[in-house]
Amino acid sequence: MSHKQNKYIQVEYIDTMPHSDKYWQKEEVLPRRELEEMQLKRLRWVVRHAYDNVPFYRRAFKNVDIHPDDIKTLEDISKLPFTTKDHLRENYPFGLFATPKERIVRIHTSSGTTGRPKVVGYTARDLENWINMCARCLYMAGIRSDDVFQNMVGYTLFTGGLGFHYAAERIGAMVVPSGTGNTKRQIRFMLDFGTTAIHSTPSYALHIKEVAESMDIDPSEIGLKIGCFGAEPWSESLRRKLENSFGLKAFDSYGLSEMNGPGVAFECEEQDGLHVWIDHYIVEIVDPETCEVLGEGEKGELVLTPLTKEALPLIRYRTGDITFLMENECSCGRTHPKIHRIVGRSDDMMIVRGVNVFPSQIEQVLMNIPEVGDSYQIVLKRVGALDEMVVRIEVRDEFFTGELSDLERIKRKIEGSLKEEIGIRIDVELVEKGTLERFEGKAKRIVDLRNTYISQ
Ligand code: ADP
Ligand code: ZN
Repeated sequence: MSHKQNKYIQVEYIDTMPHSDKYWQKEEVLPRRELEEMQLKRLRWVVRHAYDNVPFYRRAFKNVDIHPDDIKTLEDISKLPFTTKDHLRENYPFGLFATPKERIVRIHTSSGTTGRPKVVGYTARDLENWINMCARCLYMAGIRSDDVFQNMVGYTLFTGGLGFHYAAERIGAMVVPSGTGNTKRQIRFMLDFGTTAIHSTPSYALHIKEVAESMDIDPSEIGLKIGCFGAEPWSESLRRKLENSFGLKAFDSYGLSEMNGPGVAFECEEQDGLHVWIDHYIVEIVDPETCEVLGEGEKGELVLTPLTKEALPLIRYRTGDITFLMENECSCGRTHPKIHRIVGRSDDMMIVRGVNVFPSQIEQVLMNIPEVGDSYQIVLKRVGALDEMVVRIEVRDEFFTGELSDLERIKRKIEGSLKEEIGIRIDVELVEKGTLERFEGKAKRIVDLRNTYISQ
């Protein structure tokens, strides 16, 4: 029977019972050796699948003289060529798909943060696997069938909306598919529906806090218990700020469209690193310059090979995201390794006076300073031959006295902290609350004026 017909016969009842009160699926706690056996079997399958069905991979493998039969151990993955974002763009829209269109049941696109969007496709089985991985994440964060889950991210082509929507439903939570925007209404919904768990970008959560305060609502009184925040880099100090303001527990959620979407890696109760579901992805960290594979604890670019994706198998996909593999076992009992929270995208790295700086490092410093409000912006300029950075910061209302000497003191204090933590002098410009742009999705913190030449 063809797969197409399959779509119209009644599907078997899907068992949605959790594995235990702690784990959604038994795979979360499989011994590492068993996970690795599963990985090897699946790696051999996916390499063969890509080779047989995607002309791009057949060529790429031939170029480096490798054949699917050469993959005999997990280490053999290092013989395979990398796939880059450019490869996906060059094959826009469906050129890297490995299944005929009739087997594809949905597409999504990336947000286009770094150029032309990438189109990704899913078979029915891909969706099943994805929903279950997302459900593992939400269950790990403590979301249960009695929770009210308000999903405040884009519901259309962005993967974050539908991905977590179906996962929360699968757990049996009551889902409020509110999407982004209309922040006052979002807050009203939270109060009226008894929302206990939210999903948004961390920057939108910060904005919600601000709007709640402007409505004379104390964010901690809303009743939120769990926050799932992701889709952009954020800092430990922003986590503390969100946890303290809303009285919730904030979890870091990582994913990318090319790897299905959210649900690739997520924090457990320890809130110290994100478990990557290695029964579905092989994780490597490579030096972004040389592509040499790095060991545990060494910071580099995250490379992922999805092991179960039918529609869009991507071999050794370079995510552009910078992190490292953490060494310790986790007290939660899950056997899947953890990556450190993403430091940033390799294309967001700024080099200022010879020092590499990521926006998340700046945020980490700023969010620890009480005078700093809820928004900031990093302006990059070129002065003469050098890159200069100015950080524009909104000062909290109560500190904005209008007295020049007060502002001067705050400015010096922030510049001092930045110098101490990052090691270079960074100019700070203070602005009034409400001056800088707010974001409902991914924040754009960097304003790059380096092509506007400023002579000295
Ligand atoms: P785009 O690359 O166009 O933004 P996506 O919408 O698929 O495409 O977003 C995926 C990217 O978002 C990741 O590659 C990563 O750079 C960023 N991202 C997602 N989750 C996190 C997170 N928890 N921390 C840091 N960055 C994240
Ligand atoms: Zn854990």
